[in-house]
Amino acid sequence: MKELSQDDKNIILKSIRDIQDFPKPGIVFKDITTMLGDSRAFKTLIDHLASRYSEYELDYIAGIDARGFIFGAVLADRLGLGFVPIRKKGKLPYTTVAQKYSLEYGFDEVEVHIDAFGERGLNSSSKPSRVLLIDDLIATGGTAKASVDLIGQVGAECVECCFIIELKFLNAKENFTSKVYSVLEVD
Ligand code: AMP
Repeated sequence: MKELSQDDKNIILKSIRDIQDFPKPGIVFKDITTMLGDSRAFKTLIDHLASRYSEYELDYIAGIDARGFIFGAVLADRLGLGFVPIRKKGKLPYTTVAQKYSLEYGFDEVEVHIDAFGERGLNSSSKPSRVLLIDDLIATGGTAKASVDLIGQVGAECVECCFIIELKFLNAKENFTSKVYSVLEVD
C-alpha cells in the first residue's frame, strides 16, 4: 500500500477552502468543492485511495449523502466495484433500512436499500459483502457511526471508514469499533 507523502498531503490540503461561520456562527466549514475543481489535487487524492484500497478485497464502496457520493463513486469506478449511496431519510425509492442518530439538537436519519450489498448483504461467495464507507469529513462521527450500523443491519461488513478530512480536536475516532482512516487530520 502506497503511503501519501507530505508533499501530496500539502497539495490536497491547500486545495480545500475554509469558510468561516458557515452554516452558522462559530463553524469553520471545510469546502471541498475547490479541491474537486483542482484536477491535480483531486487526482492525487483518488490515486492514493485507489492504491490504498486495491488490496482490501472489497465488494462495494458506500458513500454518505452527499459529498461522500463524489469520492465514493469515482473510487468505485477506479477499483471496478459497485457504489452504494447511503442517503438522508425519504430519498430512496425501494425498501430501506433506517438508522437514527443524534444531532446537537434533535435527530437525523440515514437509510440504505435493503438489498444494496446483495441479497441479505451477501457477496457471490455467500459471505458478508466487504464494504468501504467513505465521506468527505468526520466531525462528531455520528453520521458515519449510524452508517456503519446500517451496513451491519443489512448483513454486510464495514471493513473500514475513510474520510478525506478529520477534525482531530473532536476525537471522534475513539468511539469507533470499526477501523477508521483519515487522509488529512486538521486542528
Ligand atoms: P458528524 O456526523 O458530526 O461527523 O458530521 C459529519 C457530516 O457533516 C459530514 O457529512 C460532513 O460533510 C458534514 N460536516 C460536519 N462538520 C463539517 C465542517 N466543519 N465542514 C464541512 N462539513 C462538515
